[in-house]
Amino acid sequence: MYYIMTPGPTQVRENVRLSRSLTCTNPDLDPDFYTYYKETCELISSLLHTRNRSLILGGEGILGLEAACATLTEPDDRVLVLDNGVFGKGFADFVKIYGGDPVLYTADYRHTLDVDALEIYLKKDHDFKYATVVHCDTPSGMLNDISRICPLLKQYGILTVVDSVSAMFGEEIRVDDFDIDILCGGSQKALSAPPGLAFVTISPDADAAMHSRKTPVSSFYANLLTFDNWYENQWFPYTMPVSDIHGLRAALENVKNDPYILNRHARISEASRAAVTAAGLRLHQETGFSNTVTVFDVPEGVSAKDILDAVLQKYHIMLAGSFDVLAGQVIRLGHMGENARPEKMAAVFHALDQVLTSLGVALTAGMEDVFMQYLSQGAAKDA
Ligand SMILES: *Cc1c(COP(=O)(O)O)cnc(C)c1O
Repeated sequence: MYYIMTPGPTQVRENVRLSRSLTCTNPDLDPDFYTYYKETCELISSLLHTRNRSLILGGEGILGLEAACATLTEPDDRVLVLDNGVFGKGFADFVKIYGGDPVLYTADYRHTLDVDALEIYLKKDHDFKYATVVHCDTPSGMLNDISRICPLLKQYGILTVVDSVSAMFGEEIRVDDFDIDILCGGSQKALSAPPGLAFVTISPDADAAMHSRKTPVSSFYANLLTFDNWYENQWFPYTMPVSDIHGLRAALENVKNDPYILNRHARISEASRAAVTAAGLRLHQETGFSNTVTVFDVPEGVSAKDILDAVLQKYHIMLAGSFDVLAGQVIRLGHMGENARPEKMAAVFHALDQVLTSLGVALTAGMEDVFMQYLSQGAAKDA
């Protein structure tokens, strides 16, 4: 049994885990289940501050990203792919698979996307059907300012597909205010439900674009149009995973009943960055720090594997390295959802203090102490 402190999946809260043991019905035939699914979708929309409709898809977070691209993209559509991270760039693959023409807008991987620079670019070229935007690019912990990026794109008539799988409920999202056309989320990050579900919110503009296609969508499972009129017709395109949805519902209720959730994430992440910097370690990002994950560079003379293995074996805490261009270069601490708790992060820093010191890294401060001090100062300030 490990303490899961990775940037997703996260630790699942007990009431979410237990809700998955509720009686299973036949979701295709039970009218009460259609109502339950509908109310759960409405709860998602309300927590994300939108009048747009939501859909819950039976598949991992990635399915939402692929479904958005599959359903919007027609052959030769130009799609602007905002690329300042691994997930950012990855969207180009989905666009290509469905016949589109992805145009990469590549920016510095250590900085949050410069919205003014994007605006200059868009003045020259804005002939795109939609753009893909990553809110928190989890492999580096990059946070992009979707509250400015999406309205800017919309000014140029460009629809937006936003991947906020690892940011939503840890970072503020107001879908209507931010002009987001399709927003993608997942169950296993800040919601702290088990992996297995994706969900999307869909704007009327995105709906119009998807429904005015001239060519059919080259997928069934990733085609959002297969859900059309699901409630009126009492018909899902495939059998819904009942227990996963019970878990999701409980997790959404937890968020609803947690009015300080964003504040909690902000405080924990600020304290985490203070601890890492005070210890003489280097935060991977220069700007654009997500409140859901803290990423620091592996110090000289040790390897990511040494650190991760020792933390796992001696302290039973699972942290994450990274992948793709960041493989072996960084350590990632997930403080999203149920992981964004002072005692849990204190345990993480305690373990890192001991492990890094024993590996010969000279820390300039104890991270556990700095972390706790930072939080208690904040508490004094609030009082
Ligand atoms: C976790 C995550 C996803 C979903 O990936 P899965 O492999 O389905 O968990 C998508 N985008 C981002 C930025 C993520 O962090």
